[in-house]
Amino acid sequence: MRYGRKIRKAVATIEAQTRSAHKCPRCERASVSRKGTGVWKCAKCGYTFTGGTYVPQTPVGITAQRAIKRLSEREAGAEIGIEERGENPEVGV
Ligand SMILES: [Zn+2]
Repeated sequence: MRYGRKIRKAVATIEAQTRSAHKCPRCERASVSRKGTGVWKCAKCGYTFTGGTYVPQTPVGITAQRAIKRLSEREAGAEIGIEERGENPEVGV
């Protein structure tokens, strides 16, 4: 990996957000988990929606993703490669 310190920190932040509980836009309970790339589902009310690839479409998530995109473009060209770090978020969900 050729990411600089800033991008690595931003990626770690995003990954932490991806794993933590997210608030459901319908019932507002923090029971939303990631079902796939950009697909999220609430365990309480069953509401399924698409959002950000790594976090639901929240202002924080959007800001973080933009920051990552910007940093990655500046530091490592157009490549971001979060999915290529040997992790498989789909397993065990
Ligand atoms: Zn819900």
